[in-house]
Amino acid sequence: MKPSHPTVNLPASKTPAQLDQAIVWHPYSSITNPASAYLVERAENCKLHLADGRQLVDGMSSWWSVIHGYNHPVLNQALRDQIEDFSHVMFGGLTHRPAIELCQKLVEITPQGLDKVFLSDSGSVAVEVAMKMALQYWQGKGKPDKTKFACLRGGYHGDTLGAMSVCDPITGMHKLFSQTLQKQHFIEKPHCKFHEDCSEHDLQDARTLLRNNHQHIAALILEPVVQGAGGMYFYSPDYLKQLKMLCEEFHILLIADEIATGFGRTGKLFACEHAGISPDILCLGKAMTGGYMTLAATLCSPSVADGVCSSGSGAFMHGPTFMGNALACAVALASIKLLLESNWQTKVLHIEKQLDRLLSPAATMSGVHEVRVLGAIGVIELDEAVDMAIIQPLFVDAGIWVRPFGNLVYVMPPFIIDDNSLEYLGSSLLDVLGRYLANI
Ligand code: PMP
Repeated sequence: MKPSHPTVNLPASKTPAQLDQAIVWHPYSSITNPASAYLVERAENCKLHLADGRQLVDGMSSWWSVIHGYNHPVLNQALRDQIEDFSHVMFGGLTHRPAIELCQKLVEITPQGLDKVFLSDSGSVAVEVAMKMALQYWQGKGKPDKTKFACLRGGYHGDTLGAMSVCDPITGMHKLFSQTLQKQHFIEKPHCKFHEDCSEHDLQDARTLLRNNHQHIAALILEPVVQGAGGMYFYSPDYLKQLKMLCEEFHILLIADEIATGFGRTGKLFACEHAGISPDILCLGKAMTGGYMTLAATLCSPSVADGVCSSGSGAFMHGPTFMGNALACAVALASIKLLLESNWQTKVLHIEKQLDRLLSPAATMSGVHEVRVLGAIGVIELDEAVDMAIIQPLFVDAGIWVRPFGNLVYVMPPFIIDDNSLEYLGSSLLDVLGRYLANI
């Protein structure tokens, strides 16, 4: 006899939106008291087409990832071509050209010295992989007490348990999981801003913390230059350079999490380039596939790889089922080629100038703390957290897709956005924000 499921009650008469609210869990949301989500029917270029007929200019690149816009013919074709051969084969004992060529390309374009590539499923997993590499490295080097991580306040590295432990303890999820999360070492959020140099005073907290705890610290993990979900904050490349030197002085590995910043978003192909440094371990994800599929990579230096493979049985102990998924590798390779063959630097610089012009007037609005722009990222930091239930429909009614979090209203459009759409995005954003701030 079939077991009964008393709570399942989904009449066929429900609309997709009603079904969504009833059974589909969305990011950082309650499913018992769900907010509504907008049903997307089609997406093309920099536009999202909703089921109700509305068109939205996309300001989010689907969380940093869709750099070439939606429904790109070259990326579509890369997937079609690969699907004709095969979509996936296990990566244990088997390999394939899309993975090999992608890894070769990543080694070629990332900062010097990162010659070994571990592919995984998502950004958070790439961070877990990086953390495990650092731990196994020190075991291989005969220093098994190096088990902790140093991290910057204001940082964000993902939602899995290891990654959460190195996120900012206030804006992150430490409170909810405090009994389970590993306790890590937190360095003050960098005070020096993007265009500023870093003084000895700015570096003091990091120096003291690393000097006092280096025997137990395996690695320092940070988002180079741009802290994303922890506050959309841009800090001094000089600070990053000095931190790299401190890591060398105190024998601590440096993990650069470029999951958000990688592939051109900050105006450099990788944000580490602003500081002219190479980390020991690098995490990539998001825009790697042009936002088509989930795929991430953790790269490391040969010296880190040697350490890792001198520990335990000599193997690195990670191996996800969908490691090196062929469809994801094929579309990533096509996306990277597309990026490199485009004049992306000029485009990103152009978006930077336009965002600066369009968003700067918000600085004089009451309730706005600061406006900042770097590369194709524009941020309006407010004094107070926004009320999403009010502001989200206002953005959609205005024909733009902008999804703030906390007190941060920000945009990071696809690189291919045309001037008219960018103008529309910026001016509509300011108009909505002005009306919102005037009425709260
Ligand atoms: N690191 C950074 C810097 C990120 O911005 C994110 C995602 N917002 C992650 C890690 C986690 O990536 P994912 O969501 O793909 O797990």
